[in-house]
Amino acid sequence: MTYQAPVDDILHSLKTAAGFDDLVERGLLDGVDEDTIRAVLAEAGKFGAEVLDPLSAPGDRAGSKLVDGKVVTPPGWKEAYQQFAAGGWGALAAPEEWGGQNLPQIIATAAGEVWNASNLAFGLCPLLTFGAIDALEAQGSDALKARYLPKMVSGEWTGTMNLTEPHAGSDLGVLKTRAVKQADGSYLLFGTKIFITYGDHEMTDNIVHLVLARLPDAPPGTRGISLFLVPKYLVNEDGSLGARNDVICAGVEHKLGIHASPTCVMKYGEKDGAVGYLVGEENRGLNVMFIMMNAARLAVGTQGVAVAERATQLAFAYAKERRQGRAVSSKGEGMAPIIEHADIRRSLLTMKALTQAARAICLVTAKETDVARRAKNPAERAAAQARVALLTPVAKAFSTDIGCEVASIGVQVHGGMGFIEETGAAQIYRDARILPIYEGTNGIQAIDLVTRKLPLEGGKVLEGYISELGATVAEVRASNRPEFGRMGERLGEAVVALAEASRWLGSALRTNPDAALAGASPYLRLFGLAAGGVYLAKGALAAAREGAANGQGEAAGQAIAIARFFAETLLTAAPGLKETVVAGAEATLALTPQALSA
Ligand SMILES: Cc1cc2nc3c(=O)[nH]c(=O)nc-3n(C[C@H](O)[C@H](O)[C@H](O)COP(=O)(O)OP(=O)(O)OC[C@H]3O[C@@H](n4cnc5c(N)ncnc54)[C@H](O)[C@@H]3O)c2cc1C
Repeated sequence: MTYQAPVDDILHSLKTAAGFDDLVERGLLDGVDEDTIRAVLAEAGKFGAEVLDPLSAPGDRAGSKLVDGKVVTPPGWKEAYQQFAAGGWGALAAPEEWGGQNLPQIIATAAGEVWNASNLAFGLCPLLTFGAIDALEAQGSDALKARYLPKMVSGEWTGTMNLTEPHAGSDLGVLKTRAVKQADGSYLLFGTKIFITYGDHEMTDNIVHLVLARLPDAPPGTRGISLFLVPKYLVNEDGSLGARNDVICAGVEHKLGIHASPTCVMKYGEKDGAVGYLVGEENRGLNVMFIMMNAARLAVGTQGVAVAERATQLAFAYAKERRQGRAVSSKGEGMAPIIEHADIRRSLLTMKALTQAARAICLVTAKETDVARRAKNPAERAAAQARVALLTPVAKAFSTDIGCEVASIGVQVHGGMGFIEETGAAQIYRDARILPIYEGTNGIQAIDLVTRKLPLEGGKVLEGYISELGATVAEVRASNRPEFGRMGERLGEAVVALAEASRWLGSALRTNPDAALAGASPYLRLFGLAAGGVYLAKGALAAAREGAANGQGEAAGQAIAIARFFAETLLTAAPGLKETVVAGAEATLALTPQALSA
């Protein structure tokens, strides 16, 4: 089965959850309309289906390898990357000044879903380059921008992100890589970074590493970290490539999934020191890196949507073909396709509903990014930026958890064949498992949500968001549509649960922070479920209003059925999650670490 870009579903989500028409009316999208998005997504889908998808399974089998000091990517990878760059796909949302197309983030996010669904291990390479472009654009000196950005935007060079060290993962404050200032203003870097995605490869002439390091006199902890640009090949004044820099890949990891994506051990300064250039100010590197990480966190959330969509498509195809037993409603002779069994229907609907909810959250976050960048009014830009800050950990963690869950259900729908590599369900499951880990683990995202995002503007950012969710709930309730079943009631309970858990956390943060942290992950799940349920309900309201009028009865019926299913079967978890947050901390913390490990 070849993955098909779900263009209609993405557009439905953009229009109903992310308020696309409103953005167009307010002139925030520079003339981009529905037809443009449809055309871009159709092309991205074609590229995904014809070029990236056929490489996914062979790339998984071949993997990337270190051969004679060079990283060799699987056959076809380099050509696919060059086609990707030549097609202008690396430049979608990048600024025009550097050769980009300056398209809205919603388009880049939607197209990112399509490439990553087609081939997750491939999609990671441009994902990191986009993040590096964002960081350099925001904080690089004019000279650095002029020298590096055009080649990165055109896709001629790729970018990487070098944070992790053997003893410094979630806690970057203890990183040891050293940077020493030179007389000419450049720096020499010495140290080892691990797990660096696409840290080396031969797909492009050069690689631009963004590296976190510490100056000799830097204060301890995260306040003493600086960010450096370290090219694989030094770049001459005229833009031509110079000498090889003192940075090498010393190893490529063997791992559970995304085998084709090289995960590299990088050694900086094994000889005289790797030449690097400061990005932003000394000791303010983590702030710059956060620009890159926030963009990358939304992109990784979108990878979660991508694997979920791919798993869903595969499971539907299998469930329509595979015959076993007879369903209660079976007609005719012989065995029924398993899609007729109630339990498989529940599984498939769960896959669809979770995927669409996660997609809506990511697209809403992308839309807020666009408003934060493009709105004319500074207050509106600031409000949208606060919304991006609030939603980014939810987009990353909820969507990647969903990616894993949906991939797991996908294996189950295949029965034994799901465990056998040839169907592809197993690869999706293996590949998906990294998503809740990298770009800040989902546990760290939940802590970020509770400790930094809930208190934003004294809690006002969250309050405003919850009251918007509540307004949609009121609309669903007032609609009185029999086909909505108990959607309004369940949504109402979920939003109340979110509000109550938020209030409790707000006070626990002051009085008992450990208890607040114990509830952070269930709280993030509750947040994602309530938000996702409301976004699907917005889709159902729009479908009910417009579906019949436009002769789209079937699509409208499906949007309503999925929103109702989500509310009546998945949102029932919301009140329980609230209880876990507000009343589960004592039990969670009852055993001391020593007693727990006894
Ligand atoms: C395939 C792959 C690709 C990667 N790509 C890159 C890359 O390109 N660049 C890069 O810099 N890094 C990359 N990483 C590294 C990745 O970002 C880290 O693995 C991740 O941030 C977690 O760090 P760690 O592995 O050291 O785990 P640890 O930090 O040791 O965490 C272990 C567990 O403890 C939890 N934990 C840690 N601290 C806390 C806390 N304070 N409170 C509660 N729980 C906590 C974590 O949530 C996790 O569950 C990659 C990793 C992999 C496996």
